[in-house]
Parts: sequence; C-alpha cells; structure tokens
Amino acid sequence: MGPAVTGPGFLLEIKNGGTPVILTFIDNRESRPYNFGAVFANLREKLSRTRNTLRERLGGLFQSGKERDKILDDLAEALILADTGVATTEKIIRDLKEGTKKDDGPAVIENALKDEIIRLLGSSTSGLALGSGRTVIMFVGVNGGGKTTSVAKLASRMLADGKGVMLAAADTFRAAAQEQLTLWGERLGIPVIRGHYGADPASVVFDALQSFKARGLDILLVDTAGRIHTNTNLMNELEKVRRIISREIPGAPQEILLVLDSSIGQNALVQAREFLKFSGITGIFLTKLDGTAKGGSVIAIADELSLPIKFVGLGENEKDMIEFSPREFVDALLS
Ligand code: GDP
Ligand code: MG
Repeated sequence: MGPAVTGPGFLLEIKNGGTPVILTFIDNRESRPYNFGAVFANLREKLSRTRNTLRERLGGLFQSGKERDKILDDLAEALILADTGVATTEKIIRDLKEGTKKDDGPAVIENALKDEIIRLLGSSTSGLALGSGRTVIMFVGVNGGGKTTSVAKLASRMLADGKGVMLAAADTFRAAAQEQLTLWGERLGIPVIRGHYGADPASVVFDALQSFKARGLDILLVDTAGRIHTNTNLMNELEKVRRIISREIPGAPQEILLVLDSSIGQNALVQAREFLKFSGITGIFLTKLDGTAKGGSVIAIADELSLPIKFVGLGENEKDMIEFSPREFVDALLS
C-alpha cells in the first residue's frame, strides 16, 4: 500500500513488509522571522564561564610586564583548565614560541594567540553544502549529546530561510526519541516521518525519502540513534541508512553532522573518535556551549578531528544556535 495523503495535519499509514509505519504530517511551510543579531550578541555572554576561567588564570597577564616565557607558562595552565587538552595546548604554546620573539610584549603575544586559535579552528566559516536540488542531512552522535534538539534548531533555521523541510525520526531504539522529534515537528509546523518503536531505521528513512520526494520538499533532516555500547551494530545501521539515502537521492546525504556535547570537554573527543569509524562525517554540530567552563575543548575538537565546526548550540530553544565563526568565537572568548 502506498502513502495515502489526506490533507494537512493528517496521519498516514504505509505497510512496510506487513509492519505499519505511522507518518505524522502537519504541513506548515510559512516562513518565520528569525532574529540572528540577538543570538550573536549572546555569544559573549554564553561563553562567560569559559572566559572567566581563562581570565581568572590569566589575570592581568597580557597587561603585565612579565617575560614572554612566563606568560606562556601561565597561558598553558589556563588553556588546560578550560579543557583545551594537553596535545592542543602544547601545540599552541610551541607555535607561539616559534612565532614570537623572547622580548615581545604581552600585546604581541595576545594577538599571536588569537591568530593561532583561529588557525586551529579553521580560518573561515564553512557553511552547509546544500547543493542545488534535494538535500539530506544526517545527524549522528551519542545519546544525550543533543541530536534531536539540533535537528529542530537547523529545521527552524531552514524554515526561516523559506525551505520546505521534513524530519525523519530514525532513532527507533528509544520510543521517547521519536516522540520528542514529533513534538518538535508539531511545534515548528514541519512534517515528521517516524516508524514504530524498534523498527529498522533504514526502513523509516526509506519511507521518509519517498514522502520527501513525492512532496517536492527541499531538505530532509535525519535524526539517528546513538547508543554507543552496541557500537558495531550502530555503525552498521548508520552505514545502511546512508546507503539508502545515496541510492534514493544521488549525491545525498550532502552533510553528515556529528553532534558533540561541549560541556563534557575532552570526553567529547573520545566519543568523536568512536563515531569517526563511521566514515563520511562532514562537520560538527557542537552543543551546550552555553554555561560550560570547558569551552577550550572547542579548540581541541577542531584541532584533533580536522573537521569543521559548522554550528554551535547555545541553549535548549530552537533559536539557540549560531553558525560557527572562528573569528567571532575567539573575540567572544578573549576580548
Ligand atoms: P539526543 O539524545 O542526542 O537526541 O539529545 P537531545 O536533543 O535529546 O538533548 C539532550 C538534552 O540536552 C536535552 O535536555 C536538550 O534540551 C539539551 N540540549 C541540547 N542542545 C543543547 C544546547 O545547545 N544547550 C543546552 N543548554 N542544552 C541543550
Ligand atoms: Mg534524540
């Protein structure tokens, strides 16, 4: 039985190998105003805990008449405290030593530090690879990291840009996970395709792709499961989902975003390495940067994973997201 379309706010049922897959549609494609300025102004404030950690340590460091090597020692300590990690901190200090002279004053060192962090973060904003046709974006990452919320944030942004957005709830492992995405869909007025609890995620995504194409929408955002204790299965499952997407829409998924929780600092790196076994990740959606004192981990993540940070989550609301800009991040953190 194919999809039966009955109108806005309807329920759809598709028989999938005898298993009913319930599809919830609440179609509402109107654009909404989006106030980015206010969110950007917040970055500094949201980063205040990390900034204070650095400040407490650095004190009047960059104003004082200390020698360069003493400044660099104190700087190393401050960076470690902000969870920048040993490897990245050592790299920063080494580069600063090479890039400055022994009698350089604090102002020179401060500027060199900013440039160095920007360099490690990747020098430009990388944006999304949206392509010209239908775009599919997969979200992967550990449970609790913020995948579902980040899907909603990006969906809200795309909707504001006037795109036709659809969500696929492929985290079928936890019933509540699909429920959560469905609630977001209702709140934002975006159709959500979901399977029953325990359904094969690939089959849910397959159904979502059919509906997505049939309705001529622009962007499909795919939420996935993140139980890490059955790692091999999970990676196979994600691989299967990706294959189905590529088969149904050539060139898709255009983006596979790894969602990482910045508030767990260096542990986010450990998680990320697990997920890098699943190849094809194109960038990072870094969540929960609001209120964490571990913002230094952002530098370590960008440095060690060699993946661009594309978005940053700054709260639980769908508007609490910014496109990551290395320059803005460094200014918000150090100025
Ligand atoms: P998932 O299991 O990966 O899908 O994670 P969820 O999207 O369910 O998020 C887990 C928790 O983190 C929820 O309580 C979210 O509201 C919260 N959360 C997600 N992103 C952010 C963020 O950027 N900042 C804050 N403060 N909380 C967030
Ligand atoms: Mg989830």
